Amino acid sequence: MSFSVKGKGKEVKELVVHYRRHFHQHPELSQEETETSKTIQAFLKEEGIPFEAGFATHGVLGVIEGGKPGKTVALRADIDALPIHEKNDVDYASKTPGKMHACGHDAHTAMLMGTGALLNRYKDELQGTVLLVFQPAEELAPVGGAEAMMKDGVFAKHKPDAIFAQHMWPDLPVGQVGVMQGPIMGNSDRLSLTIRGAGGHASMPHQGKDAIVIAAQVITQLQTIVSRNVDPMASAVITFGEIHGGDRYNVIPSAVTLDGTVRTNSDEVKEKVKSRILKAVEGLAAAHEVEIDVDYVDGYPATVNSPEWEAPVRETAQRILGEEATPTVNPSLGGEDFGRFLHEYPGLYYWLGTAIPERPVQKPLHDAEFNINEASLSIGTELMTQLAIDALERLNKESQ
Ligand code: ZN
Repeated sequence: MSFSVKGKGKEVKELVVHYRRHFHQHPELSQEETETSKTIQAFLKEEGIPFEAGFATHGVLGVIEGGKPGKTVALRADIDALPIHEKNDVDYASKTPGKMHACGHDAHTAMLMGTGALLNRYKDELQGTVLLVFQPAEELAPVGGAEAMMKDGVFAKHKPDAIFAQHMWPDLPVGQVGVMQGPIMGNSDRLSLTIRGAGGHASMPHQGKDAIVIAAQVITQLQTIVSRNVDPMASAVITFGEIHGGDRYNVIPSAVTLDGTVRTNSDEVKEKVKSRILKAVEGLAAAHEVEIDVDYVDGYPATVNSPEWEAPVRETAQRILGEEATPTVNPSLGGEDFGRFLHEYPGLYYWLGTAIPERPVQKPLHDAEFNINEASLSIGTELMTQLAIDALERLNKESQ
């Protein structure tokens, strides 16, 4: 049995809460994480953890070499905030109007700092190397920060044999951990269409090409891709969140733009939906004798958890939190940049329960009133620390 850190989360609890609240008060948007990055670097320096910075501009890599040789495990936290104006009435609320940590990345960052501090304290017990990956620009889909960090050589010196990340999950109570194998988060793509018709007087539609009526057909036609072309046991969503066209009630506009997102749970489904969208739009353009510009931007791939890591992560979570700690969860079609890391390295992404009992209905991620239950902070810190230790032990055993 590997070294246990059960109960040791207490040792760093104060600092994790302190940094979480600090980041919460000082949110920085994707690609603007200058101060956040500096704070992380100053902390690592203070703790005596070697690090390198500048990956994807604001990314930081801390490296903890264990007392015994062995494999390499990477732990990732995203560090950026969102352009949302916080509505929470707490004394550590955002001090920057219009910016907020509404996705819990403040907590992810602070927990990884706490994990680093704990692992560093007990590094003599560690068989191998742990990489602390602080990733910027997670919210900047489809660009993200994961790919840029890898291009900048974040894993050039130390290649992870496994990589893990955790995400705050308000639908799960504190002490519960959502673990599953396969796609836990979806492919997340962007779709923009411009229908170029011909304007005219509302009373003389035959003289123009009504882009609004064509837009209506495009929307309903694309929805049938989900209902008629996708395997009912798979998952796909096409949502248009924006539609713009027209200036006046009695004028037929010449153009309508539609902006939306396509979510799918595997590359196979994604390719199917994408090709059906392109064909359907081409057909509608021909039928109406108009041009329709299509901009399909491939976004984050699905976050696909390696099957071989499901049982070990469950085991670690149960070791720290008890037998009931890992309920069966259903996947989400939310997008997540961590999918790009899992495309390159085996590993797992899990959800950390952070429900607030006083709230009858939990506020979702990206809500102006989203908040975490801070009791989850030392749990997440302890869990990540134990996971690094246990994963290294497993990897080393397998290689013997
Ligand atoms: Zn997030």
